[in-house]
Amino acid sequence: MDTGSRWGRLPSGEWVHRYRLSNEAGVEVYLSDYGATILSIMAPDRDGAPGEVTLGHSSLGGYLGSRAYFGCVVGRYANRIRDGMFTLDGVACRVTRNHGRHHLHGGLRGFDKVLWSLKEAGPSGASFSYLSRDGEEGYPGNLEARVTYTLNDRSKLRVVYEAKTDKATVVNLTNHTYFNLAGGGDVLSHMLSLDADSYTPADADLLPTGEVAPVEGTPLDFRTPKRVGRDMVSAHPQMRAAGGYDHNYVLNGSGLRRVARLAEPLSGRALEVHTTQPGLQLYTGNFLDGSDLGRDGSPYPRHSGLCLETQHYPDSPNHPEYPSTALRPGEAYKQETVFRFTVE
Ligand code: BGC
Repeated sequence: MDTGSRWGRLPSGEWVHRYRLSNEAGVEVYLSDYGATILSIMAPDRDGAPGEVTLGHSSLGGYLGSRAYFGCVVGRYANRIRDGMFTLDGVACRVTRNHGRHHLHGGLRGFDKVLWSLKEAGPSGASFSYLSRDGEEGYPGNLEARVTYTLNDRSKLRVVYEAKTDKATVVNLTNHTYFNLAGGGDVLSHMLSLDADSYTPADADLLPTGEVAPVEGTPLDFRTPKRVGRDMVSAHPQMRAAGGYDHNYVLNGSGLRRVARLAEPLSGRALEVHTTQPGLQLYTGNFLDGSDLGRDGSPYPRHSGLCLETQHYPDSPNHPEYPSTALRPGEAYKQETVFRFTVE
């Protein structure tokens, strides 16, 4: 990694930096300490030509003004918490309602909208930390979060999330990169497979109903590779609510395992996702409406990128039957996700 260069300035006057990782296989990753964000990933196509594979803004200003969460780390709790309320160890907690009556992605100023501190920088990686104070966006406990990115010569971009707290709290961290392996256009002709036999159906507000349903026989079935757009326009009630995919999959297996594969037939670029997490939100950029501008100033329309957000299930603090997202003093939160870039 380089030592970082000044990239922009926050309204507070603080400098935001940009860092570059690269490997011998021709993959280049740009990171920022603002939101511990992945600003850009360049990956070679089947002929070795590098191309951008993520959505991003041209400058810091774009990130400050956007609610699309391009490339950032999402926390303290990724995805939704119903009515911004939950009870933990008998204590009622109220977090910011920033999404109608619900809480989304950590609140108004989530982990994507804060400046992280660079902790370690090596030749192939960078580690950022952020102290989220007791009461921030309503969450209990001082939470020390750390996110480490490393890129190896096999083109694996490893993301390790760690946290500890001084009071019982909830934590659910992910990365919100929108991928488009074609480098432009929409993602509807990308091929996707997901190693998930079931998902958590969502209500009209995209909060889980509490059910766990099989994907079999539904548009949500990606157990064998399928065009992202193939079943997207469907009368299935789950598809009507979301306007595309915006669903949490219950991933098969446990431990670090391969859970997703995305491939783009024309460029030959492919992306494998491995994770320790129990869930994955497939979000096909349904709410992109052209108001977010890309690096060359042109608008990003609906479905111009898709996110593969490895995570705990949405609204887990209100679902004791889901894997727990509670973190208590003395415990260590640790999750890992690997994005591997290949060609076919
Ligand atoms: C959520 C979407 C939300 C989007 C914000 C995704 O993780 O699942 O519902 O609109 O983030 O960009």
